[in-house]
Amino acid sequence: MRNLLAGNWKMNGLASSLAEIDMLKELTGSATCDIVVCPPFTLIEKAAEQVRGSHIAIGAQDCHSKPSGAFTSDISASMLCDVGARFVILGHSERRAVYHESNLTVARKAAAAHGAGLTSIICVGETRAERDDGVALDVVRRQLRGSLPATATGCNTALAYEPVWAIGTGLVPTLEQIDEIHQSLRHILVQELGEEGRAVRILYGGSVKSSNAASIFDVADVNGALVGGASLKASDFAEIISAAA
Ligand code: PGA
Repeated sequence: MRNLLAGNWKMNGLASSLAEIDMLKELTGSATCDIVVCPPFTLIEKAAEQVRGSHIAIGAQDCHSKPSGAFTSDISASMLCDVGARFVILGHSERRAVYHESNLTVARKAAAAHGAGLTSIICVGETRAERDDGVALDVVRRQLRGSLPATATGCNTALAYEPVWAIGTGLVPTLEQIDEIHQSLRHILVQELGEEGRAVRILYGGSVKSSNAASIFDVADVNGALVGGASLKASDFAEIISAAA
């Protein structure tokens, strides 16, 4: 299975930031993994033009569950496709926490993404309190079961395990903790999707840097990473990618 390395720019990036994508293209020309950059909505069209015909794909960070309609400010999956996006991150913990997105909402968005031809990157992850209470496994299992739509296949779906307490904090779970969660997620994927479940890539996310990437990628059932802060600079992201390639 090829590793998938996805960069989540969050609400960062102006037109001048597109130079980083050109640089990333040059720095990762010989990479043997799949690479996606997810800039804010405003940069998707230009970014997609920039990477056309290259080994890099462009993704979005959210979409609506409906194809069109009276949803002021929202963007549908087919609109993303229309401007060249191929992936969409869904159910990121910042969306779940700030916008109260439920598992059902995430599942509906993922189904819409699949219907439009996008690959969804569905995020799950426990909070610090849930980890301390010993319920991390229960939480991510429930999130996965509830967020996975009937349309999911090994091709159109990736999963990202992102412990909330590891995002942007410099804290990372132990390799044993990552291994335990990823194994459990794989088990559920196979229960839910049969053999297709083995083809779904499970990414780790949360404070991934060049210094910890290689050991994380060595964990069985880690099939790539969802990278936030360290994806903003092409040189940093390229170092992480080289650890996976
Ligand atoms: P981080 O963010 O790499 O900056 O911790 C990861 C994410 O939120 O996807």
